[in-house]
Amino acid sequence: MTPLDLSAAAAAERVRAGDLDAGELWELYRGRAAADDLGAFVWVAEERPGNPTDGPLGGVPVAVKDLFCTAGVPSQAGSKILEGYRPPYTATAVERLTGAGAPLLAKTNQDEFAMGSSNENSAFGPVRNPWDRERVPGGSSGGSAAAVAAGLAPWAIGTDTGGSIRQPASLCGIVGLKPTYGAISRYGMIAFASSLDQAGPLTRDVADAALLLSAMVGKDPCDSTSLGLPEPVTEPTATDLRGVRLGVPEEVFETEGVESGVLAAFEATVELARQLGATVERCHLPHAPHALSAYYLIAPAEASSNLARYDGVRYGLRVNGDADLLTMYLRTRGAGFGPEVKRRIMLGTYALSSGYYDAYYGTAQKVRTLISDDFRAAWERFDFVVTPTSPTVAFPLGAKTADPLAMYLNDYFTVPMSLAGIPAISIPNGLSERLPTGFQLAGPAFSENRLLDAAHALERAIGFDGSAARA
Ligand code: GLN
Repeated sequence: MTPLDLSAAAAAERVRAGDLDAGELWELYRGRAAADDLGAFVWVAEERPGNPTDGPLGGVPVAVKDLFCTAGVPSQAGSKILEGYRPPYTATAVERLTGAGAPLLAKTNQDEFAMGSSNENSAFGPVRNPWDRERVPGGSSGGSAAAVAAGLAPWAIGTDTGGSIRQPASLCGIVGLKPTYGAISRYGMIAFASSLDQAGPLTRDVADAALLLSAMVGKDPCDSTSLGLPEPVTEPTATDLRGVRLGVPEEVFETEGVESGVLAAFEATVELARQLGATVERCHLPHAPHALSAYYLIAPAEASSNLARYDGVRYGLRVNGDADLLTMYLRTRGAGFGPEVKRRIMLGTYALSSGYYDAYYGTAQKVRTLISDDFRAAWERFDFVVTPTSPTVAFPLGAKTADPLAMYLNDYFTVPMSLAGIPAISIPNGLSERLPTGFQLAGPAFSENRLLDAAHALERAIGFDGSAARA
C-alpha cells in the first residue's frame, strides 16, 4: 500500500505515529497536483507551508476552493473580475485547517462565484471528471471534487449554497458534506447567497469528512451567523442502522428526469439500509417540488446585492479607469462577469425590484418557510430523509451549457436542505454505466454526528471502490 491508497485520516494517523513522513506526503501530493491535467486547480503551492504538522490533521495537505480568501494567494472565485486578487487575510475555515495541521496544497477551480452545477462557468476553464474526461465533474466545487477523486489532493473543502458540495461529490464518486447553516464560519468566504452559503468537506470517505469538519466548526466573532456545533464532532464508527428511522420522500418517485440507473442504485441502497436494521417508510415533503423555484429567486436576489461590491474601485479588474465613473463601472462589470453571473444579477435585481418584490422574493421566502416546516414535520417520524443526490450521473461537457433550466434541474434534490439550513451528506452509491451515483442523507439541524454515523454504516455496506479514478 502506497500513501496514495491511504485515506486522509489514515495518513494523518501514520504521520502522528511517526510511520509516515509529512514531508514525503507533501511531495507526493504536490507532485500530483502540479501534474494536474483535469483543470482541477487554479493555483498550486510551490513550497510546503511552515504550519505545524502535529495537530489532529497530521500534516495531510488540503486543497481549498478558490472562493475562500487565502492571504497572499490568488482568491478569484472563478471570476475574471477578481483576476489576480490576493487578499490580505485568510478565511476562518482555512485558518482553522492550517492551524490543525493541514498545509494548503492548492486552490481549486470552480464555477464563477459558485453559480453552476458543472464547473463550466469558470473563467479559468472547465474541469474534467476523472471517471470520464469528456464529462463534467459537477459544480460548483468541481475542482475540489475532481482533485480528491483523482488523488491529486488527499481531501478538499468547498462551499454549498444549493448543492455545490454534494452534487460534484456525487458525480465524482466521493463524499461531500454540507453542514448545518452556521456550523462553520463564513468569514473570508467570497459571498454568493449569504443566507445559504456553507463551507464543508469533500473527501474520499465519511471518516475523512468527519475529521475535516471537526477542525473547521466553531463560532467565530467575525461571522455573526456562525454558531458552531453543540457537541464536538466524533469519529463515525457505526456499522449498522438498528433503531434508525429513514424517510423516503414520495416526491423522489414523482419527479421526471431521474435517470433509471440512479433510481435503481438508490432503491438498492434503501434496501441495504433495511438489511442493516433501519426502518424505512415513505414520507412527504409536499413543498419540496417548489424548492428549486424558490431557490432560483432567493439565491440570485442575495447575489445581486453581494456582487454590487465588484465595481472596479476596490478589487480586481478595472476597465476604462480613465473614463467617467459610470462608464468605468459598466465596462468593468460588463467585461468582468461571465454570462451566468450576469443572468443571476438580472434575475435577482428583478425579483427585488419595487412592484415585484412581494410577488417574487416575498413569495419565495414564504415557500422557504414551508419547506423548513415540511422537514420539521418529517423529524417527528424520522431520523433522516434520504434521496438520490443528483438526478443524473455526470453528463458530457457542453451538454447543458445552452439550457440554464436543464442545468438548474441538477439541484433538484439538494436545494431543499439548503433552504432549510439542515445538514446533508452525499456518499458514493456505486456506478451506473461506469459513472458514480450518489446517495444523500439529510437530518435535523445540528445532527452531524448521527448523520455521519449513519453515512458511515451505509458506506461500509455499499463498499464502493473509487481507486479506478486515481489510476
Ligand atoms: N448549482 C446551484 C447554483 O448554481 C448551487 C450552487 C452552489 O451550491 N453554490 O446556484
